[in-house]
Amino acid sequence: MNHSLKVFKFGGASVKDAAGVRNVVSILERYREHPLIIVVSAMGKTTNALEMVVAAHAEKSGKAFELLQAIKEEHYQLARELFGEDHEVFDTINDTFVELEWVLDEEPHSNYDYMYDQIVCVGELASTRIVAAFLNRQGLPTEWVDARDVILTDDIFREGWVQWPETVERARKIVGPLVGAKQFVLTQGFIGSTTENFTTTLGREGSDYTAAIFSYCLDAESMTIWKDVPGVLTADPRKFENVSKLDRLSYREAIEMTYYGAKVIHPKTIKPLQNKSIPLYVKSFIDPAGEGTLISNEVDDTYPPMVAIETDQALVHISTRDFSFVAEHHISYLFTKIAELRMQVNIMQNTAISFAVCVSDIDDKVDQFAGNIAQDFKVMITRGLELITVRHAQPEVLENLRKGKIILLEERIRNTVQLVVQDVPVLQRKAL
Ligand code: ADP
Ligand code: ASP
Ligand code: MG
Repeated sequence: MNHSLKVFKFGGASVKDAAGVRNVVSILERYREHPLIIVVSAMGKTTNALEMVVAAHAEKSGKAFELLQAIKEEHYQLARELFGEDHEVFDTINDTFVELEWVLDEEPHSNYDYMYDQIVCVGELASTRIVAAFLNRQGLPTEWVDARDVILTDDIFREGWVQWPETVERARKIVGPLVGAKQFVLTQGFIGSTTENFTTTLGREGSDYTAAIFSYCLDAESMTIWKDVPGVLTADPRKFENVSKLDRLSYREAIEMTYYGAKVIHPKTIKPLQNKSIPLYVKSFIDPAGEGTLISNEVDDTYPPMVAIETDQALVHISTRDFSFVAEHHISYLFTKIAELRMQVNIMQNTAISFAVCVSDIDDKVDQFAGNIAQDFKVMITRGLELITVRHAQPEVLENLRKGKIILLEERIRNTVQLVVQDVPVLQRKAL
């Protein structure tokens, strides 16, 4: 283990404006003497805005350039607030965006996902340029590293899978020598590249995962994710009242909750850390002195009920056209098709003549899947559902969650209860 290396991740919310960036710098000032790798996401909602540029370019609506200019202007505005009118960072920002303007000058690429990655990466590239320049100006020497030189992925665009041995080697070779007590290393979340040097992304909200990749590769002593919440809470405070902070959490609990929709940490983040027993802290950038949550090896604690909600779920109900039983060979075939589309299966249930899966309804994957199996199977799809996952459930918590909902599927395994639900239609609610 590299006994003193820490890895910090700051998300979009923490660098959404000049006050945010100044706050991040004030947190980092306290770690002046520590070897530190800092992973930063795109500012605020920049990635959403860039997704609109991608869509406009693909549709040839003529709006892509204009939308991009607005994003560029936001970055200039942030830089003006931090640096005044005259600083070399303006040229760096310009260079970062110019490459993208060249992409928009060309015809849209036939592979949407490829084109998406070449465009949205600019969010992280630009934000990290600004934050690194500002740290340097504030007397905190910082080396900017292009994460695409380090993180090698396969060529599944928008969902690059990390090629671990090569990434470990590159991280040790490129980043290892830069890490030291005299300077910070700062890099982008979310992005990587293929062996042909095409940019890939790791999936939306993937910057937490990037920080875990660096932590793993360089044997960090700990990793910290700085959030706008005091730590991991028993449920999303935007959706529930009376949530409380968890002081400690095992890797296992964290994996279960994030896999099923606790948006506080990207689900892929925990496993690399668990493999090397690297502790993960979730702390508040608003109250940096707060204790936060420590995620580490198994703890003896008994946990309170915890709730995660995943929206945009589809329940796919499948039965054979020839009325035969849904047997193992059918299930095996169906899963081959599911795996081909990299669909996330959240719950499954089978009876003698039918098979139901609850999947995340992303892009047009569910329709593609239904089309691919239509010849042999009858498929019924119910969309717009929520998946509620409760760990360590108590009866009154479940009762509250069921209120106003129609339960389409329910499953209980040991400490987990999962419900696939639909809102009770308003009319029906009145009639009862
Ligand atoms: P980032 O700025 O790093 O991208 P996010 O906005 O993606 O941060 O994640 C932080 C948000 O996650 C919180 O504001 C909160 O609304 C939400 N969240 C969802 N589930 C939880 C949970 N169990 N504990 C804490 N926050 C949660
Ligand atoms: N900027 C990317 C996104 O918004 C990655 C991240 O924020 O983690 O999805
Ligand atoms: Mg986020």
